[in-house]
Amino acid sequence: MKGVVKKHGSFTALHGMDLNIEPGEFFALLGPSGSGKTTTLRILAGLEEVNAGNVWLDDVDVTHQQPGERDVAMVFQSYALYPHMTVGQNIGFPLKMIGMPASQIEVAVKESAAKVDIGHLLDRRPGQLSGGQQQRCALARAIVRKPRLFLLDEPLSNLDAKLRVETRLELRRLQRSLGVTAVYVTHDQEEAMTVADRVAVFMEGRLMQIGTPKEIFLRPATVAVAGFIGTPPMNLLDAHLSGSQVSVGNAVLPVAGGVTGERDITLGVRPGDLRLADHGIGAQVEYVEDLGDSLVVNLRIGDRRVKLKKDPSGPALAEGQPVHLSFAPDTAHLFDRASGERI
Ligand code: ATP
Repeated sequence: MKGVVKKHGSFTALHGMDLNIEPGEFFALLGPSGSGKTTTLRILAGLEEVNAGNVWLDDVDVTHQQPGERDVAMVFQSYALYPHMTVGQNIGFPLKMIGMPASQIEVAVKESAAKVDIGHLLDRRPGQLSGGQQQRCALARAIVRKPRLFLLDEPLSNLDAKLRVETRLELRRLQRSLGVTAVYVTHDQEEAMTVADRVAVFMEGRLMQIGTPKEIFLRPATVAVAGFIGTPPMNLLDAHLSGSQVSVGNAVLPVAGGVTGERDITLGVRPGDLRLADHGIGAQVEYVEDLGDSLVVNLRIGDRRVKLKKDPSGPALAEGQPVHLSFAPDTAHLFDRASGERI
C-alpha cells in the first residue's frame, strides 16, 4: 500500500498508509479498537474503495480491482458460514462460484478439510459444530482456492482462551505449510507477538511502527507504542535528562547507550525490569497481585502509579510500605517528552 487515504465522510480512518508486506510473511496489524486495522484489511481485500493512494499485489496495481479479481481470501471474526449448507458445501462454495466441476470440487474440499482436521465433519451443518470447528471450516473455505493472500480479521476472538492459544499456533503452521502470505488483524498484542514474523502497530489511523515482535518489544519507537506493548504495560514516568543521567522522583540514575543531553523526557521501564533496591526512587507499596508464579507489586511514586513484576520469593510487602526502586541503565527506554519519540 502506498499513500492510502481512507475517509468515512469527514472522518479520516487512514492517513496516508505506506505498508510493504513481503511474500510468505505472517504479518500482523496490531492496535487499539478503532485504529484502522480492519479498514486496512478490507482495502487489501477490495471491499473498500480508497480516497487516495494505491494498492499493489506483487507488481499489479489492484487499487480498482474487484475482490473477486484479486486472488485473496478473507476469514472474518464471525466466520460468515452459510447455515443452510453442509460443511463440505461451505468449503466448496468459492470453487462452485468460479464454475469448477463437482468432481474436482470434491477432491479440493477433502484436501482443504484434511489440512485443518475436519475431514470427518463434512456432512454436518455449521450449527452442529463447536466454535473451534466452525473456525476451521472458515479456514478451509479460505484456503480451498489457494489464494495468494490470506486476510484474517480477528479470526480467534470467538474462541475461549485455551483454544485461542492452540489455534493460533496451528494457524501459523498452516500458513507456513501453504507458503501463503497472511495478514492478520488483532488487538491482542500477545497474539500478534507470538504468531507474526512482523507486526505493524496502528494508532488513530496511522502506522506507528513496523518491525519484528522483538524489535517492537525491545525498542518501541514512541511512548504510545511503549505503553501499548507488554503485559503489564511499560511504566512511563516524567523525568529529566541531564548529561548522561536522568532524574526521576527523588533519584538520579545513570543512562546507558551513550545518550546525553538536557531535556524533559518520558522514562519507560518495563515492570519486569524494575527492581526493589536499597537506594533509588522512593515509592510506596499500594497492593500486591499474586499471579502464582510471579507477583505484580503496585506502587506509587508521588501521584504516579507503577508496577513491578518479580518472582514470589523474598520478604512479604505490606500495603503502605516505603521502598526504593531501581533498574539497570540498559533496560531504560528514553523518549522525548514533547514529541514522544524514542531518543
Ligand atoms: P477494532 O479493533 O475495533 O475492529 P479497527 O482498528 O479494526 O478497530 P476500523 O474498523 O478499521 O478499526 O475503523 C477505523 C475507524 O473508522 C473507526 O474509528 C471507525 O469508527 C471508523 N469507521 C469504520 N467504518 C466506518 C463507516 N462505514 N463509517 C464511518 N466510520 C467508520
